[in-house]
Amino acid sequence: MDEDAVKKYLAAGGIAEKAKDRAMREAKPGVKILSLVSILENYIVELGGNPAFPVNVSVNNEAAHRTAYINDESTLPEDGVVKIDIGVHVDGFIADTAITVCFSEKYRELVETTREALEKALRAVKPGIRASEIGFVIEKVVRGRGFKVIRNLSGHSLAEYTIHAGETIPNYRDSLNFNRIRPGVAYAVEPFASTGRGVVYNEKRVNIYSIRPTFLFKEISGEHVLMSIYKKRRTLPFSERWFPELATLLGVDGFRELLKELSRAGYLIPYPVLSDIPGSFVAQFEDTVLVLDDGSVIVTTNRAIL
Ligand code: MN
Ligand code: MN
Repeated sequence: MDEDAVKKYLAAGGIAEKAKDRAMREAKPGVKILSLVSILENYIVELGGNPAFPVNVSVNNEAAHRTAYINDESTLPEDGVVKIDIGVHVDGFIADTAITVCFSEKYRELVETTREALEKALRAVKPGIRASEIGFVIEKVVRGRGFKVIRNLSGHSLAEYTIHAGETIPNYRDSLNFNRIRPGVAYAVEPFASTGRGVVYNEKRVNIYSIRPTFLFKEISGEHVLMSIYKKRRTLPFSERWFPELATLLGVDGFRELLKELSRAGYLIPYPVLSDIPGSFVAQFEDTVLVLDDGSVIVTTNRAIL
């Protein structure tokens, strides 16, 4: 990997780490999710980065892909297990990182187990190792404490302007996963532990979309909307919150309805909220590792893997 790319990964990682620290300070019971995500996304820009995706704040049985919508009044619950997932890009080089905060002792073991699973998994990341071996490390820690890993969520390789670049790092020993960790590639490692079924399903709620650039060659209604989103985001995920001018133009409900229509028509990719069964609790930790021939570096904590 060339020096410029490494520099940009480290810059994105440094900003993501600062945003994560800020998230830990700001996340408290009663805080509006809308104000939390706005503070963090603005902070990322202030530090010279760009959000790679809307800051995700997923609560309790929600594992991923929830973010605040326009006028969202919801707040962090007293007893919440709250995943804050932050992506930063610098010129398309992406750092992807997540933490779980919880405000009561009840879920401390779930959270600490997941943190430990990530710690151990990161130590296993080396050129040539099978991704499923990393999954085995995660599974052992999580199952050892009586929790389940979420089997249908996984870590992933990253590429320029691409969050899920094709290779996966499973959260269990997946004998059908033949990927091996390669030098010169950035990977997000992200264990999820759950008190539920260990499987997430799509909720009806969709807060995040990205564009399929196929619309560029067609004349369709909503084209101007797609174009103004595309100009700002290309194919990276976005939230309706980031386009207040479109919400003003079309009305909030009209804008939302159009996004739904465009995704039904195949011009947008929807990312529904992903949840385990109601009543369950899910924790997640995530860091991005840049694997290099002469040693790897966790870009979101600025630590070397020895
Ligand atoms: Mn993430
Ligand atoms: Mn990720």
